[in-house]
Amino acid sequence: MSIESTESTAERYERLLPEITPENKPYWDGLAQNELRLQCCDECGEYRFPESEVCPRCLSASFSWRAVSGKGRLWSWIRMHQRYLSAFDEVSPYLVAYVKLDEGPPVISTLVDEPDELAFDVPVRAVFQPGFSERPILKFAVEHPDPAA
Ligand SMILES: [Zn+2]
Repeated sequence: MSIESTESTAERYERLLPEITPENKPYWDGLAQNELRLQCCDECGEYRFPESEVCPRCLSASFSWRAVSGKGRLWSWIRMHQRYLSAFDEVSPYLVAYVKLDEGPPVISTLVDEPDELAFDVPVRAVFQPGFSERPILKFAVEHPDPAA
C-alpha cells in the first residue's frame, strides 16, 4: 500500500505548504487576517516577496512588514494539465497565474472565479482562501469594473 492511498487530499496539500518560521510568520499572520503583508526595505523602500534577510536591491538588512493594497495586474498565466503533484489531482487542470503587485513584487498564485477569457494586464486583487487545508492561501480575483462608477 502506498502512502498516498492513505492520505487525504488535504493532508497531501498541507505537506506542500511552507513551514511557518519566525522569518515568514508575519506574512502568514497577515493572510489569516485577510491582509497581504510584505517586507519593505527601510533604506530604499523596495517591497519584496518572498521574504529574505536582505533587500535584493540595496542589500540592506533593515526592513519593516507592511500591509499592501493586494492589487496587481495579471502578467501571465498557464493552465497546468500535467499532474506532477497528487495534491492537485482533484483540481487538474488548474490555472497558474503570475501577478505583478502594484507595489512591485511578482507573485505566482492562481485565480478564483476565473472568467471565461483572460487578458494580459487585467487588474486583479488579492483574496484569502483556504486551499484544501484550513490555512489561508493568497489567491487573486479579476477586478470587474464597477457598473455604477
Ligand atoms: Zn533596499
